[in-house]
Amino acid sequence: MKREKKTDLKSLLVSNLHKLQLSARKKFRELKEGDSQLPTDPLDRSSLETNQNMTFMIHDRERLAMREIENALSKIEQGVFGICEICGCEIGKKRLRVSPASRLCVECQGRMERTEGKRRLAQAYAT
Ligand SMILES: [Zn+2]
Repeated sequence: MKREKKTDLKSLLVSNLHKLQLSARKKFRELKEGDSQLPTDPLDRSSLETNQNMTFMIHDRERLAMREIENALSKIEQGVFGICEICGCEIGKKRLRVSPASRLCVECQGRMERTEGKRRLAQAYAT
């Protein structure tokens, strides 16, 4: 990959990471503020708890996304960015443009998703 292309991707990743950090911080503040004004009505309280659970779930997704981006950034540093973690081939440029934090090429991702799907199906039948 050409040098300027890498810098482009890096700044894209860094700005994505910043956006995620900002929104996570904002949500965290909202959550803390919500904590200090707990409603006394038990019905209200349960809906608030559901909201908080949702916020935690969103946080998990964001944390995961942040980790992926950090991983991609460290790969750029190591010079192994854009290489599939399973087969070692180059991940398509188009794919990287859409999701720069991709760790697998389209083929390996597809294969993994199919395996994952089969595993879930087997689990569903087992229970
Ligand atoms: Zn691959």
